Amino acid sequence: MDFGFTEEQTMLQSLARDFAQREIAPTVEEDERNHVYNAAIVKQMAELGFFGCIAPEKYGGNEMGHLAATLMTMEVGKESPSYGVTFNLQMNAIQSVLLAFGTEEQCERYIPPLIKAEDYGCFALTEADTGSDIASMRSTAKEVDDGYILNGNKMWISGVPNATVGLIYAMTDREKKHRGMSAFMVEMNSPGIEQRAIAEKLGLHSSPTGEISFEGVKIPRNALVGKIGDGFKIAMFMLDRTRLSCAARAAGVAEKCFDLSRQYANERTQFGQPIIQFQMIQDQLARMWCEHEAAKLLVLRAAWMMDNLEKVGGRATLHISAAKYYGAEAAVMAANEATKLYASYGYSAEYPIERYYRDAKSYQIVEGTSNIQKIIIARNFIEKKE
Ligand SMILES: Cc1cc2nc3c(=O)[nH]c(=O)nc-3n(C[C@H](O)[C@H](O)[C@H](O)COP(=O)(O)OP(=O)(O)OC[C@H]3O[C@@H](n4cnc5c(N)ncnc54)[C@H](O)[C@@H]3O)c2cc1C
Repeated sequence: MDFGFTEEQTMLQSLARDFAQREIAPTVEEDERNHVYNAAIVKQMAELGFFGCIAPEKYGGNEMGHLAATLMTMEVGKESPSYGVTFNLQMNAIQSVLLAFGTEEQCERYIPPLIKAEDYGCFALTEADTGSDIASMRSTAKEVDDGYILNGNKMWISGVPNATVGLIYAMTDREKKHRGMSAFMVEMNSPGIEQRAIAEKLGLHSSPTGEISFEGVKIPRNALVGKIGDGFKIAMFMLDRTRLSCAARAAGVAEKCFDLSRQYANERTQFGQPIIQFQMIQDQLARMWCEHEAAKLLVLRAAWMMDNLEKVGGRATLHISAAKYYGAEAAVMAANEATKLYASYGYSAEYPIERYYRDAKSYQIVEGTSNIQKIIIARNFIEKKE
């Protein structure tokens, strides 16, 4: 599908596809099985400029934009949903927030090393008792003379335990609920911070996920991003960007499951003919094709909107949530159908289908569950009464 991508966008898409097939695909099964996160792969992605799409040149970026980043994320996500996550950790979350809300000093300190993968990023909203309802978080940042003291625990944080810098959300005034939340850039080697990997999870084994504890962590005044109490607003801004990236990975997985299924259905014979000759298999493939194409169109439109915010009223939240919701459901549907189509080989860990099946489930949860996306979408249809 190509509806007028620029030469640069097409070039970056091919670059990401070639890279993913050449550098990630050969070891992806073994690394996932052994829960190996390979920092060298992230370094190579950085060297190719994958994490520079939204930052200006003065910070080492290439300003290729969200559509280019989306095309690349899809290609990496097709081969490895795990390494697809790195776009969010190195780029979408922290860089976008600092460019919009950060000081010049914060941009200079954090953006170049994230682009070059000299720093490894994470963003931390979720806690053990705080998922969808982020304003109920219990982590606190107490103002003291020369900064803040951070206390609390974060759960399910991607990039942990390897993060060197983190965008950490904490309450500066719990009484004020979401207006009492603030965001901080934190050096993750500061005294009082402990990062631990979550021992077992369903999938994304090459993408570490962990918990962080903050015990009396002293952070300087200039760690604050934006103003005190801006945290909720910043989180919503950030989630628009990280959801877009998640939607791109999901659309990539849906497409990959379709491609593998089409190939298998043409090769596998039963009852003396390729199984693609059976109408029920054709029905599966036709539905998978429509789902992944629809997911891709939604994510590409949302990415285009992000690059043209001034033309679309300044926000793309509805379209991003639609892309994230639909992409997640399409990925799970495609992986589920692929598992049925591959049958025993779909159930076998020697084939990639069961991996996509496990990884795809994450898209219905991360960056706000499918229910939360539907709430955001439906909010646009509720008429305000006087
Ligand atoms: C692999 C992985 C990586 C992650 N990475 C990060 C990360 O880097 N940073 C980070 O901060 N977090 C991260 N998370 C956490 C993720 O964002 C949360 O898990 C997610 O927001 C959902 O929160 P929860 O699991 O606590 O579910 P809950 O909020 O407890 O929801 C439970 C159920 O209730 C439903 N529900 C909740 N509220 C409503 C409502 N109002 N209406 C209808 N249904 C509702 C949900 O849809 C869900 O089905 C990650 C999670 C995973 C699994």
